[in-house]
Amino acid sequence: MTHTSHIHDDGSHHDHDHPHAEISVGEKPGYYAVMETAVRELLIAKGLITANDIRHQLEVLDSRTPALGAKVVARAWVDPGFKARLLADGRAACEEFGISFYDDTQLIVLENTPAVHNLIVCTLCSCYPRPVLGLPPDWYKLKPYRARAVSEPRVVLREFGTIIPDDVEVRVSDSTSAVRYLVLPMRPAGTENLGEEQLAALVTRDAMIGVIPVTLDQEVGQ
Ligand code: FE
Repeated sequence: MTHTSHIHDDGSHHDHDHPHAEISVGEKPGYYAVMETAVRELLIAKGLITANDIRHQLEVLDSRTPALGAKVVARAWVDPGFKARLLADGRAACEEFGISFYDDTQLIVLENTPAVHNLIVCTLCSCYPRPVLGLPPDWYKLKPYRARAVSEPRVVLREFGTIIPDDVEVRVSDSTSAVRYLVLPMRPAGTENLGEEQLAALVTRDAMIGVIPVTLDQEVGQ
C-alpha cells in the first residue's frame, strides 16, 4: 500500500512526495519509542508479562470511547438512585454499570448545577478518565489548555463557545495519576420525553470534560 501522508504518534502530520510501503521506513525511532521497545522486550523476556497481555490491554484501551461516559450520564439523569451512588463513588457506580477499571485510578464525578460549572484539566500532563472516556483529545494534552484552564477558565470556556454567567461559580479540578474526574453535565430542558438512549446520544466528550454544556441541537452520534 502506498500513501502520501500519515499521522505520527505524537500527533504531527507529515506530507511525503514519495510513496513508500511501510510507515516510518527510513525514520529513526525517537527516544521514547526505543525505550518502550526495550522495556517491553525486557518485561516479556523476564516472564513478567506476555506479548498477549500487551495486545489484550491495547484492545481494552481501544474499546473505551466517550459513548461509555455518555451512557453513565444518561443513566444518572433518569435514575436518581444511580446518580446518588455515582456522585458518592464514581468508580463503584461505573463498575456497577458494567464498566471495568483496568488501572488504580479513582473517579470523582462532578455535578454541574445552575450554581456551579465544573471543568477538568490535568495541569501536569494528560490524566483523564480513560476507563469511561477513552483517550483524551489533543488539546487536552497541550500546554495552553493545561495552563489557561486554571489561570483563566472563563476565557478558555468562551473560546469553546461557552459563556458562564458571572453569578455561576466555575470550579476547575486538576486530575492526578490517582484521581480522575468526570463532569456530570446538566440535563437540557426540553428532554423530558426522551429515553435513556436518546439522552445518551446528546452527551458529548467535551461536555463531560466541562468545556461545553449538553444541548438539544447536538448532532446525534458524535
Ligand atoms: Fe496527567
